Amino acid sequence: MVRNVKVLIIGLDGATWDIIIPFVKEGKLPTFKRLLENGSWGILKSTLPPVTVPAWPSFATGKNPAKLGVYNFIIVDNKSGKTRIVRSSDVKSRKIWDYLDFYGKKSIVINHPVTYPPEKINGTMISGMLTPPGAKDYGYPPEILGELKKLEYIIEPDPEIVKSKWDTEEFIHELIKTIRKRTDVVVHLMKTCSWDLFFVLFRATDVVQHKQFQNKRKLLKVYKEVDKSLGTIINTIPKDTLLILMSDHGFCEFKKQFNITKWLYEMRYVKLKKKDASSRSSKSSILVKIGVTQASVLRILRKLHLDWIRKYIPVSLKSKFPSSSLEVDLKESLVYPGILFTGASQYLSINREKVRDKEEYEKIRDELISKLSALKDPETGERIIEAVYKKEEVYSGPYLDKAPDIVFLLKKGYGLTTFLDLNAPVIEKISSPFGTHHIDGIFLAYGSGIKKGQRVSAKIYNITPTILHIFGLPIPNDMDGRLLMEIFEEDSEFAKRESKYVDPIHYGKKGEDKKLKKTIKNLKLKGTI
Ligand SMILES: [Zn+2]
Repeated sequence: MVRNVKVLIIGLDGATWDIIIPFVKEGKLPTFKRLLENGSWGILKSTLPPVTVPAWPSFATGKNPAKLGVYNFIIVDNKSGKTRIVRSSDVKSRKIWDYLDFYGKKSIVINHPVTYPPEKINGTMISGMLTPPGAKDYGYPPEILGELKKLEYIIEPDPEIVKSKWDTEEFIHELIKTIRKRTDVVVHLMKTCSWDLFFVLFRATDVVQHKQFQNKRKLLKVYKEVDKSLGTIINTIPKDTLLILMSDHGFCEFKKQFNITKWLYEMRYVKLKKKDASSRSSKSSILVKIGVTQASVLRILRKLHLDWIRKYIPVSLKSKFPSSSLEVDLKESLVYPGILFTGASQYLSINREKVRDKEEYEKIRDELISKLSALKDPETGERIIEAVYKKEEVYSGPYLDKAPDIVFLLKKGYGLTTFLDLNAPVIEKISSPFGTHHIDGIFLAYGSGIKKGQRVSAKIYNITPTILHIFGLPIPNDMDGRLLMEIFEEDSEFAKRESKYVDPIHYGKKGEDKKLKKTIKNLKLKGTI
């Protein structure tokens, strides 16, 4: 008999043990200490590249980005051909809350990235990061919005403060306020709604680390607030709730910036637009047709107050060139960074329109891989790339063709910008206290039936199959993750229970049955049958 277990997932965006453990040792984070002593924990490997999107969608589906069709914050719309911000429906897979719904289980999902517009789930969904600012429809069912307003819920910290006041105490206060308001909503919903799965994400850890990673005093303020919030939430959860604490990626110091577009420009892969070249661009170019330019991508990001994602552009200040006159010619460039120049993505894309055939494509790709691997920091003589892959080496699935051609990982301490400044060196020192993403995130499981003090090596794809097993539900065999069996105490029902794997059709069928039943019911009501 499956006991009436509940699962609470607390996401701490970008959280890293490198920060948490020293603070715990100093006795500053009592709740983390309790969880570390009484739970199973370890490093959680993120997606490649370790960026919030695709990392969170990969968590929710247990699948790699090529099965989701989502690689970044931005996507090219299939219908209109225009670039836009990724939406919930772009993630082409069922998510953990959908699988639970098939078995009648309820979920509450708060602030999961890429959940706007909110999905009509069996439970409650409050959209997270990438919700358009000012959106009034960020909650499902809509009745929840009134309660959120009363509790002064904040989706993301004030973008103006994040952008221009990150060096002030006001920035830290804004983050603390966001954590407090969200905790109030968590406690309220836990008390007033029934649920089986509860997910909440705190993004403040990521935001503070981007701007203040090297300022331990400021980091401590935010982590202390998170610790307090964890304590409050743990005191509220019903008995028999298992807690999973996780991040989507880790963090490290951002000491040096790889100016990737400058590097590509020096090697003549990237071509700049000549003055008024845009008016003469060929209409036959796919990129021109779909309206992809650096400026158009930046416009979208600005509209969403997300342009800070694009990087902190210290170089732009000393540039003689106004950025508007430095437009990369996507049509004429053989290689371009990232997907359409969105920041922090360790991707390279090859312009297929400039390539004759498969053979030439492979030649260019091999050439880029060897050049990237050999790239050294002139100051230290050390290589700056940890690993570099062809897309098919790290991704598999029906949306592989949408993936950038090369994926790489920078060494610890290096970040990148796609912003082009002709005056900047390819590798540039950063003088601000910034941090950047690292592939090693955090994982911790705690509760009855979970081993105490067990060390675990987890991957972001492992969490969803593990949750399904906890609920005694079958795991679709198209998931990329494995079940983290080692976290369960040997005499627990989770360890004794045999894991079940099914063809993904199993869940599809059940869904269609449900739809069919609903249609029949409606027809009956109408008196048609
Ligand atoms: Zn993140």
